[in-house]
Amino acid sequence: PYSLGPAVPYYDALRAAWLTAHPRFPAYVAPDRPRVMVVTGSSPHRCSDPEGDRMLLRAFKNKADYCRVHGFDIFYSNAVLDAEMSGFWTKLPLLRALMVAHPETELFWWVDSDVVFTDMLFEPPWGKYMAHNLLIPGWESKVYEEKNWMGTNAGSFVIRNCQWSLNLLDAWAEMGRSGPAREKYGKIFAKVLSNREPYEADDQSALVYLLVTQRKRWADRVFLESSYVLHGYWKAIVDRYEEMRSNGQPGLGDDRWPLITHFVGCKPCGDPNGASYEAAQCWRGIDRAFNFADDQILKLYGFQHESLNSTAVQRVRKETGRPMDTDDEEIGRLLHPTFRGT
Ligand code: UDP
Ligand code: MN
Repeated sequence: PYSLGPAVPYYDALRAAWLTAHPRFPAYVAPDRPRVMVVTGSSPHRCSDPEGDRMLLRAFKNKADYCRVHGFDIFYSNAVLDAEMSGFWTKLPLLRALMVAHPETELFWWVDSDVVFTDMLFEPPWGKYMAHNLLIPGWESKVYEEKNWMGTNAGSFVIRNCQWSLNLLDAWAEMGRSGPAREKYGKIFAKVLSNREPYEADDQSALVYLLVTQRKRWADRVFLESSYVLHGYWKAIVDRYEEMRSNGQPGLGDDRWPLITHFVGCKPCGDPNGASYEAAQCWRGIDRAFNFADDQILKLYGFQHESLNSTAVQRVRKETGRPMDTDDEEIGRLLHPTFRGT
């Protein structure tokens, strides 16, 4: 079968030995606090939409902000590492390469370029997933019973650095080889999964397909999360930001203040296969999400956007001669975060 690289026998033991030999690079930076690397990227080519590259820059700024606040590493890829794994499949060889190169990293969190972190304070409760190797958004009933390819979302998931994950990436990538394999699996998905047309295999359908057809092999280690928004469908979110600000506060991460707003189907960089939504609607939502997230950062420094629909900012705090005296709790938690395990 296809493989992203040579088999690595005893990977877990090799990694454990490396960690023992390198105590300055622990996989856990505090109790229950795994070392996390956020991984994202975009195509090596310039966007076909003239607004696309500016959007990608803002999207990266948003991720850099979130990672800085939480002390996560971040990796941005602009390369397709394996010509067979082109397009959205590129995340698989990338994750494999990062995994084996960074034994110190316990968890890799893939986020699509069109994912926006909209809760700067919320952090996944890592302790909850100690027995799991893959954390994905979604519902068991939708994946295992309905076999719905939209029962999860492959735009935001967390994968542990271990042998199980190397095996999963190989099994997953098998269906993504460009050409006949992608065509063949696209047709198979249409038969096995619900609501799936026979177009070429995508990574999200492939993951659901693996889980439903090889449930015994994988399911025990897969956590389907729906108690907070690990992936949030933008249309249900972008008109509610003002309402969230009057009723909630960052740190909730759920429907009241979603951790992530994902611009599924917007194709902001431009895509030959086309977007599923009207561009103006997407751009408005994307701008609002960026400004909503950025306001959580700007507030730390005494500024806010005039509105979520505006690029202009204004001062919201009076500067004083005693700048260290501001003792807003929310601000303190973002400026000098201390990790909470659950
Ligand atoms: N991607 C990448 N390199 C590519 C193409 C895609 O890194 O050459 C990443 C990018 O982060 C994108 C994700 O893969 O957001 C998913 O790809 P898709 O085509 O589904 O784009 P989306 O619908 O998320 O814009
Ligand atoms: Mn996406």
